[in-house]
Amino acid sequence: MNKLPVAAILYDFDKTLSPKDMQEYSVIEELGVAPEKFWGEANRLAKENRMDGNLAWMYEMILQLRSQRKSTKKEYFRDCGKKVELFKGVESWFERINAFGAAHGLKIKHYIISSGLKEIIEGSSIAKHFDRIYASAFLYTADGVTEWPAQSVNYTNKTQFIFRIAKGRFEEWDNSVNDPVDEDDLAVRYTNMIYIGDSATDIPCMRLVKSRGGFSVGVYDGEKNLKKNVYELFDSGRINFFAPADYREGSELDSIVKKVLTYISAQEELRRVGAENKALAAEYKRYSAAKTALENERGAGEVLKKLKQKVKGDVE
Ligand SMILES: [Mg+2]
Repeated sequence: MNKLPVAAILYDFDKTLSPKDMQEYSVIEELGVAPEKFWGEANRLAKENRMDGNLAWMYEMILQLRSQRKSTKKEYFRDCGKKVELFKGVESWFERINAFGAAHGLKIKHYIISSGLKEIIEGSSIAKHFDRIYASAFLYTADGVTEWPAQSVNYTNKTQFIFRIAKGRFEEWDNSVNDPVDEDDLAVRYTNMIYIGDSATDIPCMRLVKSRGGFSVGVYDGEKNLKKNVYELFDSGRINFFAPADYREGSELDSIVKKVLTYISAQEELRRVGAENKALAAEYKRYSAAKTALENERGAGEVLKKLKQKVKGDVE
């Protein structure tokens, strides 16, 4: 059986799958500082030292954990992931959407592209559903203690992961992500991508996916009804659709994603029919060329026969 065509859903994490920034559920709470104070410190550090904003909060987090003699081990961050809250319906979303995709001839793959901490996402209850989690991460010593940043995912370098997913060059260190890949050789076509995000930091990704024929969806916290971001994203052409971040069956978001998957499925089916037509037309072309060559040969044979009749003697 032929492999099913792949459709990929790419998610931001904070305020897209979860109502708050992931650090606020655990690390910041445990540090005993108000979230605004922590982010304020991190932003000040970034500005004063011309730092990448992510590297600044990663540094600030480790600095504060150490100063309070708390753990900075990988397991600690993984445990923090267990406390992360998710929007309604997220827990069962993946299996439902996978089943919907399968019923429409699609293999659905899910990816996270987040500026948050990879280890926290890995510790969350939904980590197993993702084919890959791209997020900021630490390098750890042999004893499992944080030593250095391994990855800093900010809003502009987020887009490299879309190219990695499309081209199947998944490893973060793999420079061949810049090599050109033909449309038909892509691991995931851009037209089969759906990007779900909530804010201005998702703009480069939303724009990239949308401009390449995929779909971008803006989500907002339905309980707070904060729609400013999605209205602005829509108005500036960054997203195709917006809906509350409610992942339950029958929700607006569920309906939009299923309609898009149905559309992608129809596109794939038409592509398959087109490929069959192309193959048949190519067969005809081959037949036609062979027929012309044979007729020419036969014609040449007749000319040769006539000429030979005029030749005196055995010339073979
Ligand atoms: Mg977000």
